[in-house]
Amino acid sequence: MAIIPIRKFPDPILRKQSSEIKEFNNEIIQFGYDMLDTMQSARGVGLAAPQVGRLIRMITIQIPENKPMIMFNPSISNKYGSRKVEEGCLSIPGFTGLIERSIKIDAQYLDENKNKIKLSAEDLLSQAIEHEIDHLNGIMYTDHLKSHEDLHKTGVTPNEIHWHDVGYKIHINKDQATKDDISMHEVIEKKIELSKIKSDGSLDDASLEI
Ligand SMILES: [Zn+2]
Repeated sequence: MAIIPIRKFPDPILRKQSSEIKEFNNEIIQFGYDMLDTMQSARGVGLAAPQVGRLIRMITIQIPENKPMIMFNPSISNKYGSRKVEEGCLSIPGFTGLIERSIKIDAQYLDENKNKIKLSAEDLLSQAIEHEIDHLNGIMYTDHLKSHEDLHKTGVTPNEIHWHDVGYKIHINKDQATKDDISMHEVIEKKIELSKIKSDGSLDDASLEI
């Protein structure tokens, strides 16, 4: 049994694309079992390889009362409908978001015995597969938020006080040009996405890099 440290937002690996697994060997299958151990010890419903530091197309899923699954090279061929769901992520601990996911999906993957499996999934299983395959493409569930009001600290109601994202421009007067000569000014636009850092924190908690 091996527990691997889970990468947390904003670790850049979470934004990268994972590659298809071409060669099945014992090492890669063992890594799948290590991911299962890691997911279970973190009490997660799903985990994707980039979350434990490897950019390969592999995910693990365990829906309560179902048997755990390791999926190699998973993909979704059809998505049906849309519904609003509450979602969290082991890489963004302490937050929950309200986003849209499919009602049902058709998916396929290879299992740990290299069997090609086709499956139709609904409810939490469908949601978990969509969430984990997103990770393989560098997508996080927060990317699906329509408004940052839809993201809140787990256990905190969305109406509690929080900061909003801030956008601003900084004008730098490079060479003492007149104020009206805008072409001589370099304009830096910066947006602080506080909603991606804290929904009820303070500016002091955010690191501002300009
Ligand atoms: Zn996740």
